Amino acid sequence: MHNAAFRALDLDWLYLPLPVRPEEIGAAIKGLAALNFSGCNVTVPHKETVLGHLDQIDHVAKVLGAVNTISIKDGISSGANTDPAGFLLDLQERGIDPKGMDAVVLGAGGGARGVLFALAKAQVNSVIIINRTIERAETLVQDMYNMFSPGALGAKPLKREVFEALSQTVNLVINTTPLGMAPKEKDCPWPENVPMPGKATYYDLVYHPKETIFLARARAAGAAAVSGLGMLIYQGALSFTIWTGRQAPIDVMRQACERGQS
Ligand code: NAP
Repeated sequence: MHNAAFRALDLDWLYLPLPVRPEEIGAAIKGLAALNFSGCNVTVPHKETVLGHLDQIDHVAKVLGAVNTISIKDGISSGANTDPAGFLLDLQERGIDPKGMDAVVLGAGGGARGVLFALAKAQVNSVIIINRTIERAETLVQDMYNMFSPGALGAKPLKREVFEALSQTVNLVINTTPLGMAPKEKDCPWPENVPMPGKATYYDLVYHPKETIFLARARAAGAAAVSGLGMLIYQGALSFTIWTGRQAPIDVMRQACERGQS
């Protein structure tokens, strides 16, 4: 999507994958600056460890403890995280306002952190984090507790009975686990034979495939279902603007992503 956007704006730039060994992340950042790169995205497993190798880190990345975008200007490297804003922009485009909603977040990793930051900013009413490793969900509650109203953030284990006991008044359910992502398309974070509240909106951070089992089941229950492709595009568009100073051509980026999925 970035290369399509560069071409559309006639920019002589190139986006390319650069695999880096964990022990060489610091050398890699110095190398980017030495080679006059304008920046990069950072993905698993470097999002957290890269913080210690940057000259500057913005507020969002500091709070999340994770960077997904680095820009380099005059040899100074700066880290940012565009995931929360990307998530909110996609919700906004779809007319979904989390203000006052009761939400459930499945998973407690990096994606969940970004989503929680966004939900707090959007003044959600309450969030239950459901995770396989309950200790990780509890740590996340501790880390982000102050961003929510007292008692509004809680953690539960990923167990059938937790899903069975979920209130039918839940408004928004967000999958931030990789369950359902290719090549494991048949996996689903929601337990089999437990009905999904039909009035909620279901959002899957997984973007490949576009229609996961989680989303297909939600739709079959009569609920609204949204793929993470929009968040991917918006977080990418925000990175694009950080690097180039130009407004990102969203439609071009969307078409490139959709071509890549077909
Ligand atoms: P992560 O930090 O590794 O966290 C993964 C989470 O999923 C953890 O809470 C983990 O639970 C849980 N999990 C993993 N395998 C599981 C399994 N088999 N059963 C139950 N739970 C499981 O990963 P991440 O960075 O948050 O990314 C998660 C997904 O979000 C990926 O598919 C990624 O592509 C997607 N994502 C999409 C966007 C977007 O723009 N659309 C942005 C960010 C991430 P434990 O704590 O028990 O290990």
